[in-house]
Amino acid sequence: MSNVLHEKLANLYEEVIRRNAGEREFHQAVHEVLDSLGPVVAKHPEYADTAVIRRLCEPERQIIFRVPWVDDAGVVQINRGFRVEFNSALGPFKGGLRFHPSVYLGIVKFLGFEQIFKNSLTGLPIGGGKGGSDFDPKGRSDGEIMRFCQSFMTELYRHLGEYTDVPAGDIGVGTREIGFLFGQYKRITNRYESGVLTGKGLTWGGSQVRTEATGYGTVFFIDEMLRAKGESFEGKRVLVSGSGNVAIYAIEKIHQLGGTVVGCSDSSGHVLDEKGIDVDVLREVKEVRRGRISDYVELRAGGASFIADNSIWDLGCDIAVPCATQNELTGAHAAALIRSGCKVVAEGANMPCTPEAVKLFNEAGVLFAPGKAANAGGVATSALEMQQNASRDSWTFEETEERLAEIMRRIHDRCLSTAEEYGQPGNYAFGANIAGFIRVADAMSALGLV
Ligand code: NDP
Repeated sequence: MSNVLHEKLANLYEEVIRRNAGEREFHQAVHEVLDSLGPVVAKHPEYADTAVIRRLCEPERQIIFRVPWVDDAGVVQINRGFRVEFNSALGPFKGGLRFHPSVYLGIVKFLGFEQIFKNSLTGLPIGGGKGGSDFDPKGRSDGEIMRFCQSFMTELYRHLGEYTDVPAGDIGVGTREIGFLFGQYKRITNRYESGVLTGKGLTWGGSQVRTEATGYGTVFFIDEMLRAKGESFEGKRVLVSGSGNVAIYAIEKIHQLGGTVVGCSDSSGHVLDEKGIDVDVLREVKEVRRGRISDYVELRAGGASFIADNSIWDLGCDIAVPCATQNELTGAHAAALIRSGCKVVAEGANMPCTPEAVKLFNEAGVLFAPGKAANAGGVATSALEMQQNASRDSWTFEETEERLAEIMRRIHDRCLSTAEEYGQPGNYAFGANIAGFIRVADAMSALGLV
């Protein structure tokens, strides 16, 4: 990709920076998409002329609210809640909630913007949105988490609905938090409206495979990339950053397909386990004990080591799967990966690779899958959950997993064929941006100036 924007898009980008001052991650996400749209604007000037792209960069609605709650010591805490309803041309706003101290409007907008194109790429009827809070769940008791979630939903509920806006989980929001949020929604509205949240537990309206979907989907996507090159996971050395929902199930599926994940991480450091990360031990540490990654070494009993300094990407691999957070993989990390012989990088997280890292991967011929394509399996399975809720049906694990695999195959093929059609064969990021854009832009054009 170039770094010089098409003239019609350069002005728009300046406007985005001016109108959204200080929102660095949002600027980065917009630039990354605009960078791919030059050939589209050249071929279809009507998109620029009818301001479709300008409208896409402006959320339909942004909600910011106070979240007061009382901690276990009886002290009043105040957090800030966000929901950015970015685009509903293809369906109700859909996208997760993130609870992390780093959350501010710029993060929520970058995630919501990415979500528009990701959801479009799935081919399913879902618009794009995202939300969250600067609340830090680390070290909080179940009671504190519940009181926070109840207060958060006490404001948010009025903006939600199965045909309006349907949140799910993201960093810091898993089945436990979705349960507390759903319980409060149900209590306030007096409606058992299953389709208003996804990522629910299996006994109260959730879908099989939703927990595994983002990690599994990312690995299905990589498997397609390897297949297109006549290769497979068999015998490959893999690194996965993070050790949360996406990372755990990416590791599980990679092992099922014959690869070996030798390292994973959290914000305190990473572990190296040359025999392959033991997923049962990792789940015990992260899902049951809610502990730190260093606890893995203790429980694994021999062979694994914990490294607090340096980066996980210095360990060297054939395939790298960043599954933690935005901008975690820098240019220096990319250079180290390339030197170690890494041939494939797929984003399980949203925007984990910096623009400099992506540029280096492209120059070195490393196959690169952007998050909006590779991690779309989570939201796609959320849409399957909505489908099951609407028809009061529930499918088996096998049936749901097969649907997920088929969706990931289609996204992969759509990225490749679009990249080829617009003159950059093999460039998944370019293909994902254009294919995602065209579907939503056509819907916006059809719906008139709204
Ligand atoms: P979790 O909260 O389950 O896990 C996040 C993991 O990333 C934790 O291990 C966390 O460590 C780690 N992490 C966070 N910040 C850093 C950091 N600066 N350095 C190293 N590790 C870090 O979140 P998810 O697994 O759900 O989400 C991970 C990524 O995947 C996010 O980018 C999210 O937006 C994206 N994603 C998630 C989807 C989903 O369905 N859940 C769908 C699509 C994308 P620690 O505990 O120390 O903070």
